[in-house]
Amino acid sequence: MPPTQMAQLMDGTGLARRITAQTAAKAAEISRRAGVAPCLATVLVGEDPASVTYVRMKRTRCAKAGIHSRHIPLPATTTTAELIDTLAALSSDPEVHGILLQHPAGPHIDERAAFEAIAPEKDVDGVTMHSFAAMSFGLPGFQSCTPGGILRLLDEYDIEIAGKHAVVVGRSAILGKPVGMLLLARDATVTYCHSRTTGLPALVREADIVVAAVGRPRLIRGEDVKPGAVVIDAGYNPGNVGDVDFDTARTRARLITPVPGGVGPMTIAVLLAQTVDAAARQLGVPGH
Ligand code: NAP
Repeated sequence: MPPTQMAQLMDGTGLARRITAQTAAKAAEISRRAGVAPCLATVLVGEDPASVTYVRMKRTRCAKAGIHSRHIPLPATTTTAELIDTLAALSSDPEVHGILLQHPAGPHIDERAAFEAIAPEKDVDGVTMHSFAAMSFGLPGFQSCTPGGILRLLDEYDIEIAGKHAVVVGRSAILGKPVGMLLLARDATVTYCHSRTTGLPALVREADIVVAAVGRPRLIRGEDVKPGAVVIDAGYNPGNVGDVDFDTARTRARLITPVPGGVGPMTIAVLLAQTVDAAARQLGVPGH
């Protein structure tokens, strides 16, 4: 028996570090030219421990990259109308260049209505309908951060997208749907799968590019990965387990993202990069 060929790992940690170093350099240049640092407003409703941790991580990374962050913690009892007022005020505050509403915002909040209160030019988390339309039409605009990170990873490894069959498993508004639209805008043939899809394994077997974005440990079996496929595992489940059965998938794939260290680190890198781009545009710093 010939030795099994193992897939090359796609190093999201390294790419995120390089992108963030470029972002920090741009932030420094903006601060020097405009006299103010780029500023990200983070809005958190309630005190869900995971959300508190995510926001803290994002703010720490901002600080390291020379991006100022303004944190607005709101009580769990905040109504949709109050949240919209807060987001609208930040949208018209010239000192704020990007806005992040940490989600989920809570079951009593109309999250779509809240997201739409974010001005498109400050939607650095890529959550508004405006940003979704830009992603769908392949127009300039802010991308949802995890999907944007996935596309940057594909580009980093020179993965051909045009004409390839991409199977996206998951259709959430922040991940599955936008990553599929970004791939479609790059001329992939895209199949979306979700909880009502029948015959998922057969669809996965057809994929040149598999994007797993479900939140079910090892749902995608290695034996269903087409030999030579590119496997992007966005899933993050307890115990550092992805949505793909990594050990078997890597014996068939050409390239695969590890969990952790694949897609995960890219999300914050894209958030910071888009915050600096938003600041450059709003402050009129040329060259950005
Ligand atoms: P979500 O909102 O819960 O959406 C999950 C999607 O998976 C839904 O579209 C659902 O279908 C579909 N699904 C559920 N069970 C399925 C099944 N058995 N077969 C096929 N599809 C199924 O989750 P999300 O926010 O998109 O996150 C998905 C995963 O990505 C999670 O593990 C999350 O932790 C991870 N994530 C990682 C990052 C990062 O790395 N930075 C960022 C965001 C999310 P329906 O639409 O029919 O319900």
